[in-house]
Amino acid sequence: MIDLHTHTHESDGSLSPDQLVRAAADSGLEALGICDHDTFAGYDRAVPLARAAGLDLVCGIELSTKWSDGARASGRSVHVLGYFLRQPPPADFRAWLAHLQAARRDRNRRLAARLQSLGMDVRLEEVEALGRTLAGRPHFARLMVEKGYVANVQEAFDRYLAESAQAYVEREEPLLDAGIRRIAEAGGLPALAHPVRLGTATEAARMHDVVGAMRQMGLQGIEVWHSDHAPADRDLYAALADRFGLAVTGGTDFHGENKPGVALGTGIGGNVCVPRTVLEKLRSS
Ligand code: AMP
Ligand code: FE
Ligand code: FE
Ligand code: ZN
Repeated sequence: MIDLHTHTHESDGSLSPDQLVRAAADSGLEALGICDHDTFAGYDRAVPLARAAGLDLVCGIELSTKWSDGARASGRSVHVLGYFLRQPPPADFRAWLAHLQAARRDRNRRLAARLQSLGMDVRLEEVEALGRTLAGRPHFARLMVEKGYVANVQEAFDRYLAESAQAYVEREEPLLDAGIRRIAEAGGLPALAHPVRLGTATEAARMHDVVGAMRQMGLQGIEVWHSDHAPADRDLYAALADRFGLAVTGGTDFHGENKPGVALGTGIGGNVCVPRTVLEKLRSS
């Protein structure tokens, strides 16, 4: 069993790289892919720990991109995974990530100001104390819960932080085709994360067009196993991988306590089971 999609506390997971590597080794995982949002900090720290634990560690990243498919003025959000299977990501790719992180920090500063103008005492330093280098909206939400402005994280999003909510502020994000291209140019394998967010098995015809369009942009893989995928979704994405010659990837999208109910390696109620051959095929592709 392997898990190619997990997060550490360097992005929005709850476990440190150390804790994640130990949890993976304890649960008998043969390989662990760390795909933090916009940072390799968790992966970098996990490298020596995984080596000591005899765990096969895979270097990954998850990028949030905007896809302007014409359906929405601002474009829709598409997450792209990048797997660096042969060589480590080069310095210029890391520099580009640093630029994305700076854009995120700028958004966070404006978001804190917006919440303050709505009467909430939410300061950037407090959010960054929770979220480290990759502080994001989930950390704002947690702080708002702690301070009693909302009852739970979902209420924070629904009332303030979601795209349609009153405190939402835009963040500079790469376009989908640029994200795919950057990963590929850096020697990585770009794969569509949790395609279920774009369409389920009941929307097969549309998903065919969506994945076909992304193939044209240079997409090379698609996440078939994921905690949010029903068996029918999995079948559809596997068929689309076949149809468009895409590599197949899979993982739980484990976030520790930040996504309770999703177990490392096995997902929700055992709905994820990624065979080791998936990684062997990725490495030989
Ligand atoms: P950020 O990258 O800081 O803009 O935050 C994005 C993260 O916020 C996503 O990865 C989700 O975990 C979370 N998120 C975004 N929209 C919502 C929503 N409507 N409800 C709950 N969580 C959300
Ligand atoms: Fe996440
Ligand atoms: Fe994602
Ligand atoms: Zn993820």
